[in-house]
Amino acid sequence: MNNFSNEEFDCHFLDEGFTAKDILDQKINEVSTSGDKDAFYVADLGDILKKHRRWLKALPRVTHFYAVKCNDSRAIVKTLAAIGTGFDCATRPKYNWCRRIIYANLCKQVSQIKNAANNGIQMMTFDSEVELMKVARAHPKAKLVLRIATDDSKAVCRLGVKFGATLKTSRILLERAKELNIDVIGVSFHVGSGHKDPETFVQAISDACCVFDMGDVKLKFEEITSVINPALDKYFPSDSGVRIIAEPGRYYVVSAFTLAVNIIAKKIVLKEQIGSDHEDESNKHTFMYYMNDGVYGSFNCILYDHAHVKPLLQKRPKADEKYYSSSIWGPTCDGLDRIFEHCDLPEMHVGDWMLFENMSTYTVAAASTFNGFQRPTIYYVMSGPTWQLMQPIQNPHFPPEVEEQDVGTLPVSCAWESGMKHHPATCASASINV
Ligand SMILES: *Cc1c(COP(=O)(O)O)cnc(C)c1O
Repeated sequence: MNNFSNEEFDCHFLDEGFTAKDILDQKINEVSTSGDKDAFYVADLGDILKKHRRWLKALPRVTHFYAVKCNDSRAIVKTLAAIGTGFDCATRPKYNWCRRIIYANLCKQVSQIKNAANNGIQMMTFDSEVELMKVARAHPKAKLVLRIATDDSKAVCRLGVKFGATLKTSRILLERAKELNIDVIGVSFHVGSGHKDPETFVQAISDACCVFDMGDVKLKFEEITSVINPALDKYFPSDSGVRIIAEPGRYYVVSAFTLAVNIIAKKIVLKEQIGSDHEDESNKHTFMYYMNDGVYGSFNCILYDHAHVKPLLQKRPKADEKYYSSSIWGPTCDGLDRIFEHCDLPEMHVGDWMLFENMSTYTVAAASTFNGFQRPTIYYVMSGPTWQLMQPIQNPHFPPEVEEQDVGTLPVSCAWESGMKHHPATCASASINV
C-alpha cells in the first residue's frame, strides 16, 4: 500500500547508536556555521510507533482514526497510514492516499459532503436536524454517526459548548433519520480535549455508548484505559457486534516534535531604582528576548490549546550562573506575540538557541505566516529498525515487538532545564468513538 520513499518526504535514518537529539545538535551546528539560524523542528517518527504499540496493548478492541487536525504534517500522516490507522478529517483530506476516513466535523459545507460522496467517503458525524437534512440531500448513502453531548467540565479544551446532541434531541434525530431513510451506524462523543477524569468516560460510555478521551499520556493512559476496557466490555461486549473506533489526536503525536528557536533580538529594561542600594545586580534589570517563532507560528498552541510550553537551554548553564527575570517574545510586530511574560533565565545572547519539547500537538497545524514569518522546517528522523517496521504494511503481524532502545527517540531530558518554575507540559489525550 503506502511505501515510503525519500521523494515523498525527507527523512534522516539514524545510524545505530544515534538518537533524534544527536540530529538536533548536528542541525544546530550546521545552521550555526552557515549563518542561517531559522527555527526548525526535529520530529521522531519512531516515537509515533511507540505510541502505536502502547495503544494496541492498552485498547485492543478499539480501532483508531487519527484526528488529522492535531498535526497534519505529511510524514506524520504517512507514518500513521503505514501502520494502518484511519483518519478523522473535517474536510476533504489534504492527501489523496488517505484511506478509511471519518468526517467527524459537525458543520460540513455542502460541497464537502458532495465531495465525500464522490470519493467514496461514507462515515460522517452529525448532531442536528439541519446537518442530517444536508447529508440526506447531498449524500444519501452516507453512514452517519450521532455525536452526543458529554460533561466536558474537566477538560482543558471544552467542546461541549459547540457540539453534541442531548439524549432527548438524539431520540428525535434518530426518528428523523429513519424517516429520511438515512443510515445511522453509531454514536460518538468527545469529552473535550485534554480530559483528566476517567470516571467521566465511564459515564459517557454507559450513558450513550460512546467515546472517550484520555488525559496525560505518560501517567494516565493506562489508568484511563483500565477503566474504559471494563466499561466497553460491560456495555458493548465483544459479541455485541459493535465496532468501537477512536479518534486519537494528541495521543499519537504529542512527544514526537522538538522545536529549536533562535534568539534574534534582545532588549535590556532597567527596573525602577527603588531601594536599589541593597539589591543585587540581577534585580536591577530584566531582559526581553525575541525569537524567530511565536504565537502566530508554532506557539499558537498557547492561545488555542492552552499549552504550557517550557523552554530548555541548548547550552548548559554554569553551576554559579546568575538568573535574571526575563520575558520571551515572538518575532511579529504585534504585542500579543508573547510566549512568556515572566521566566528566570541566565543571560542569553542573540544567536543562542532555545529548545521546546512536545511541540507536536496543535502547533504546525494551525501556524500562520502572519507578518511574513515562515513556518519552521521539519527534519524527520527514524531509526533503521523503525524503517524496517514501516515496510511490511501488509504484514498481518505488524507491528512486531521491538526492543525499546531499537527505536530512536529523543531522551526525556535532551537539553538543560532553564531553571524555570513552570507548569508541567500540556497533557496529552486521545478520544474514542464507539
Ligand atoms: C480534535 C478532535 C479529536 C482529537 O482530539 P485530541 O484531544 O487531540 O485527541 C477527536 N475527535 C474529534 C471529533 C475532534 O474534533
